[in-house]
Amino acid sequence: MIQFQNVNKMYDDGFHALKNINLEFRKGEMTVLIGPSGCGKSTTMRMINRLVSPSSGSIKIDGSDILSIDPVELRRSIGYVIQSVGLFPHMTIARNVAIVPRLKRWTADKMSRRVDELLDMVGLKPELYRDRYPSELSGGQQQRVGVVRALAADPDIILMDEPFSALDPMSREQLQEDVARLQQELHKTIVFVTHDMDEALKIADRIVLMKDGEVVQSDTPDRILRRP
Ligand code: ADP
Ligand code: ADP
Repeated sequence: MIQFQNVNKMYDDGFHALKNINLEFRKGEMTVLIGPSGCGKSTTMRMINRLVSPSSGSIKIDGSDILSIDPVELRRSIGYVIQSVGLFPHMTIARNVAIVPRLKRWTADKMSRRVDELLDMVGLKPELYRDRYPSELSGGQQQRVGVVRALAADPDIILMDEPFSALDPMSREQLQEDVARLQQELHKTIVFVTHDMDEALKIADRIVLMKDGEVVQSDTPDRILRRP
């Protein structure tokens, strides 16, 4: 579980981007942060992998203060999926996935089997895709590889920052279904940022509505829908 207690963020130019945030991201739950551009979603998410530090307040992961965890170790234990997946164009899909430090320590055989298993999980037939180059895949397929790469390290926490917003509606819908299904199976702590309420309602276990650096509402999709 990730706990934010009275977290504030004041950027160097004096901008108060987060105002007294109290939040819990629970294990096995997909928490979706939603709100208009500039409301502080990315700032909140980037604090979890220490790309941004709080100006005050504390963040705990499974009870330990995040400051007591080595940042490199922390980032290795967190999967991160962003809008532009950033596959290396000169490497095959299999090598792009196997770049994750955890897999590098494995034997070639074991690694190869794990990569195939992961590709299978997101509907990419390994025999078809493992030896292709990123340019030979559609945008949606490349984003799937991005998800696979985030899963490869077997992280407890996965951060997804508008991962599907650049995709066509069909690929987007498929990936939403895949991620929701994977979450049912894998039981990770997932934090997902979007500005699309339909997407949030479809995939979230909990929706955190933000505005101007504050949490306006935090509830299950059902209850968010029922509110007037
Ligand atoms: P969101 O992800 O909801 O679009 P962000 O967390 O990226 O919002 O940004 C929240 C606010 O903080 C915005 O007004 C943004 O311009 C500002 N901001 C983000 N990063 C910085 C920074 N490094 N320096 C100053 N202001 C920043
Ligand atoms: P995103 O893709 O999440 O929207 P942004 O384009 O908002 O990212 O931000 C890219 C980088 O610029 C981030 O490191 C962010 O912290 C920084 N940044 C965003 N807004 C500002 C700002 N108003 N002043 C300075 N830096 C900013």
